[in-house]
Amino acid sequence: MKYLIQGIDKKVDSCQICGAYEKLTWDHVPPKSCVEQSPVMIKSLYADITNDKTKAFLSQNGLKFRTICGRCNSELGNKYDPELCKFTSYIVRYSRSRLRLPKTFEVPYDHFKLVKCLAGHYLASTLDHGSTLDIQLRKSYLGQITDLPVRIAVSLSSGLSTSIVKDVCRGDASGRYEPFFMSAIKWLPLMFLFSFDENPYGMVEVHSGGVVEKKAKSILLDKSRAVIDGWPEHPLNNEFILMNDQLGTQITAERHQR
Ligand SMILES: [Zn+2]
Repeated sequence: MKYLIQGIDKKVDSCQICGAYEKLTWDHVPPKSCVEQSPVMIKSLYADITNDKTKAFLSQNGLKFRTICGRCNSELGNKYDPELCKFTSYIVRYSRSRLRLPKTFEVPYDHFKLVKCLAGHYLASTLDHGSTLDIQLRKSYLGQITDLPVRIAVSLSSGLSTSIVKDVCRGDASGRYEPFFMSAIKWLPLMFLFSFDENPYGMVEVHSGGVVEKKAKSILLDKSRAVIDGWPEHPLNNEFILMNDQLGTQITAERHQR
């Protein structure tokens, strides 16, 4: 955690997106424009699992990282965040509707802008330039590749905390599925899962590992298939999770009760 806090406090360093050595600015996850920011208690996933309350610290306005330069921050905020906000508010409106609606519903999105937005915030919420996933997302974000081999799946989430889990291996001891490597960003009401492998949970994908296209697409989300509170940061039943706290960011932010 000390490592994480030291990283967050660096004012001048190389930008996690473009690599320029500059004054760094704060990036909120989820973006400020999408979700109202409230006081949260932030802790590492390890402290969360071991219920170590001494390692938690308070942030008055949500989970944020001082890791990207002003240029990348305003590009993300102006060009790509509106697409994620639109995507999220569409789902919130549908889930909260009092009308009797079918349990699956279609969510439209702009493929290019949504992938850019997710890649940007994923990169901003890390202190590690080196993971293979980071390298692929950075190249794609900067326009050096259009073919992004990473799969990005989405699911509704009922968890109240914001969680960022990176570069972990999830497995099932009873052999229901092969161990697979994944990362995830989650906040109410959504979870995005990043992986090079096909996800064994059969979640709907907003990007299936091919070309990031500049065109409108849609997915079919199922209201009854939301991931439960604690997923993916806590293993369930026979599952195990392998992680290294130094490799990436494993962090949770729970709404702070005054
Ligand atoms: Zn930058």
